[in-house]
Amino acid sequence: MKVNIISLTCCAGCVSSFLNAGEAFLEILSENFRIVYSPTFIDLKEIPKVDLAIVEGGVRTEEDEKLIREVRAKSRLLVALGICATHGGITSLGDIFSVKKFLEKEYYLSERTQLPELKDLMYPIGNFVDVDYYIPGCPPMPFLIIHALKSIVSEKQPLHHKSIVCTECNRKIIPAKLDRLHGIYEKEATPEICLVSQGFICLGSLTRDGCGAPCPRVGFTCFGCRGPADSLMYRSRDMYAFLVKVISRRTGVPEEKIRAELYKTPFIFHTFIFSRFDRFKARERII
Ligand code: SF4
Ligand code: SF4
Ligand code: SF4
Repeated sequence: MKVNIISLTCCAGCVSSFLNAGEAFLEILSENFRIVYSPTFIDLKEIPKVDLAIVEGGVRTEEDEKLIREVRAKSRLLVALGICATHGGITSLGDIFSVKKFLEKEYYLSERTQLPELKDLMYPIGNFVDVDYYIPGCPPMPFLIIHALKSIVSEKQPLHHKSIVCTECNRKIIPAKLDRLHGIYEKEATPEICLVSQGFICLGSLTRDGCGAPCPRVGFTCFGCRGPADSLMYRSRDMYAFLVKVISRRTGVPEEKIRAELYKTPFIFHTFIFSRFDRFKARERII
């Protein structure tokens, strides 16, 4: 299987995560998986026709759109790798500003003519082309990437994770009676008890499972990098209201107080505020 690896607007962390798979990465290379184009690994200017394209990053510039359309036209299958590609991801934080304000704030020292032409917003690639498989995560865990690619190479359907991170976290959910919420650096988390029950804002109850809950397992809150779980996407639920209710139920803190707290830290919720969920070809294709 001939493979292209493409990077659009992103931090390149997803391809690095793929490399972090170590021996499993080498193993897949020996299994009929040949990378023929990748600006990270190979010096080749022309994008060849292939069986599979793996794309990290989203569409923020006119150049990105041109590139993703060319890549789609030259690939039999296309995988969106990482939440920038699948939903818009952390790079969507730029959507807080208009393009004019964004350029003034971040690039006021640059020559404008040297900058790529920006789109009004950051878009996931599914807004422009058909995507066959989505692997959300920031970055996706190496084992998830390897599982997905091995399944695709052997023409099997990869696992579709549709539950929430809480199902993979071994912390105990208990209702508490707290006065207020806490920042993650404000106090040390008690092991074994759900972080929300301790007053921290953990997004595990909204977020798609599959990562193995590495963050809450070591005492750090889940920031939702796998995007919303199926249950939240299907029923067009108000995710913000759902999170406020979950936190209030587990902490005893009134909902208005939680809303005020979340309002102060919108970046915690960025994956859910700015990402887009309406262009998925099929939910079952989300790995
Ligand atoms: S999903 Fe995260 S790791 Fe991957 S390219 Fe985007 S910002 Fe980087
Ligand atoms: S909310 Fe966070 S800490 Fe609590 S069970 Fe879910 S993932 Fe674990
Ligand atoms: S626990 Fe949450 S933030 Fe951490 S990898 Fe999983 S989905 Fe991402």
